[in-house]
Amino acid sequence: MNDSESSGRSAADSGADPLVSVEDLEVRFFTEDGAVRAVNGVSFDVMPGETVGIVGESGAGKSVTAQALLRLIDDPGRVTDGRIRFRDKDVLSYSDSELQSYRGGSVSMIFQDPQTYLNPVYTVGEQIAEAVRIHQDADRQAAREEAVEMLDKVGIADPEGRYDDYPHEFSGGMKQRALIAIALSCDPDLLIADEPTTALDVTTEAQILRLISELSEEFDTSVVFITHDLSVVAELCDRAIVMYAGEVAEDSPVEALFDDPLHPYTEGLLDSIPARVGPGERIDPIPGQMPNSRNLPSGCRFHPRCPYAVEECRRHEPPLVDVDGRRAACYRFVDGVEVDE
Ligand code: SF4
Repeated sequence: MNDSESSGRSAADSGADPLVSVEDLEVRFFTEDGAVRAVNGVSFDVMPGETVGIVGESGAGKSVTAQALLRLIDDPGRVTDGRIRFRDKDVLSYSDSELQSYRGGSVSMIFQDPQTYLNPVYTVGEQIAEAVRIHQDADRQAAREEAVEMLDKVGIADPEGRYDDYPHEFSGGMKQRALIAIALSCDPDLLIADEPTTALDVTTEAQILRLISELSEEFDTSVVFITHDLSVVAELCDRAIVMYAGEVAEDSPVEALFDDPLHPYTEGLLDSIPARVGPGERIDPIPGQMPNSRNLPSGCRFHPRCPYAVEECRRHEPPLVDVDGRRAACYRFVDGVEVDE
């Protein structure tokens, strides 16, 4: 065990410079009922070529963190503290033109509901070609050819013929494939995928996950994958950042996280995965609920649900500490604090 306070860097330590570096990020939503503390002091890096899963229940702050990476937090929300650096440049102080080439140029995002992000009055092919024209400075014919190629790459059969289809002529899985084509058409350094398979059936979900994995490798793109589902993380990610009530609870390589979870919340999430429950055993869901971010508990935010909680946990918030190259925010890893095992 190591009680040194984390430097805010991720568990990944390849010696390379991070592609993205988030430090002490804080996001608040200012509502009539008071400030919602959605993200509190979150720090992590994403290395070039790395696929990082940000995982947690609804309300953990994972989607807000992803939106902040793209500076998509709108009123009444605001980034109130911290830094986001992309290739060592300060994203939070980008000018409008820098922001435009960052979004949809260096960084692309795919969302939960593809229906919302495809324009019903243009054909799918035109929408991909438009993205190609904007980001690759291509003429109409070259953009069309590139769009057909992208449709082929994302697994749309008869791409030439389907170019002229409207979104309503595509199934849910095909729409998500089209959005992936749009996202990758600018050859981004980072792809942010926010629960992209939520609206899909299990078979289509597996196909889309495989597609994202294969294409991110082909395009040499880092991926930040937002999900509530740890089995998706197991399938796709190199590293997992587990968030709870707006904070990082644990940051570990995926294999280590599944073999030996550090944080009791991670333990609870793993115990809730049906595939990990043996024959005759029952799924053991985490008792209670994620706290309301307007009214967070004292001390460790997980203490009302934690089977190991002691008095110290109720009074003081545990720091995020390095644990053999991983990170965890739990007094079980802070020397000098006695916590029941
Ligand atoms: Fe549980 Fe205490 Fe660790 Fe929080 S600090 S996760 S309450 S043992």
